[in-house]
Amino acid sequence: VPELPEVETVRRGLADAVTGRRLVVTRVEHPRATRRQPGGPAAFEQLTTGRTIASVRRRGKYLWWTFADDPDHAGSPDALVAHLGMSGQFRLVEPDGGTDDHVRVQWLLDDGRTLVFRDQRTFGWVLMSDLGDSGVPESVAHIGRDPFDPAFDPARTAALLAGSRAGIKRLLLAQRHVSGIGNIYADEALWRAGVHPDTPADRLAPEGCGAVVAAATAVMRQALASGGTSFDPLYVSVNGESGWFERSLDVYGRAGQPCRRCGALIVRERFTNRSSHRCPVCQPAQRP
Ligand SMILES: [Zn+2]
Repeated sequence: VPELPEVETVRRGLADAVTGRRLVVTRVEHPRATRRQPGGPAAFEQLTTGRTIASVRRRGKYLWWTFADDPDHAGSPDALVAHLGMSGQFRLVEPDGGTDDHVRVQWLLDDGRTLVFRDQRTFGWVLMSDLGDSGVPESVAHIGRDPFDPAFDPARTAALLAGSRAGIKRLLLAQRHVSGIGNIYADEALWRAGVHPDTPADRLAPEGCGAVVAAATAVMRQALASGGTSFDPLYVSVNGESGWFERSLDVYGRAGQPCRRCGALIVRERFTNRSSHRCPVCQPAQRP
């Protein structure tokens, strides 16, 4: 699953590749990719064809393109929102390049290349959405800023988290007060901060919540800085290069291996429909 560092890398790649490009033709190859679009594939094709990409933005794991003003599309939604889901990827194809069975949407660009959205497992989607006054698409406005956002406020975020009795990991994954922290980096952050995933956020207080968020930010920044090496062939960045990062993870995926801090064996536990990895010594369960 692409996590925040990979999605930010895709955003940078897309921004370099398609800013200023006009979408000459949009073709939806699989209706599931536009399942959120009112009017389905036909509406999505009509709303996007002919538009010029002005910028590529992101909040959490949502990407969006803004479009240059265009009288032919007056009154149409202003942003194309994309979510990569489990396996989504953008790829630029040269004019003589072929496509394949996993292409869900393709856009012929005005420079002769084709941008494709590939998605083997089809959890990803694209949607035309109105840009709100804040410059964030309405379909993205429900999530908080992510730690890579220049306007992210760690102290305010910590205070918001600490105002809840919910378990800290559940709150992080909810994306409401802070976005972009998925299952992998939630586990890594909680290990770094020495916090059990089920600890009520109000018991951590703003200081403890702030430490968890700071740990998540640090580990994701490291991943972004070192990114690029693949271990998952499903995921390819915009240029067709492998985009999965070689993640140097301390707990996620290390069940049964020794904790790098204390040597105790890392445990893997059920967490809603996913799993949590933690060190039973560094991250003990809280007493009720
Ligand atoms: Zn430990």
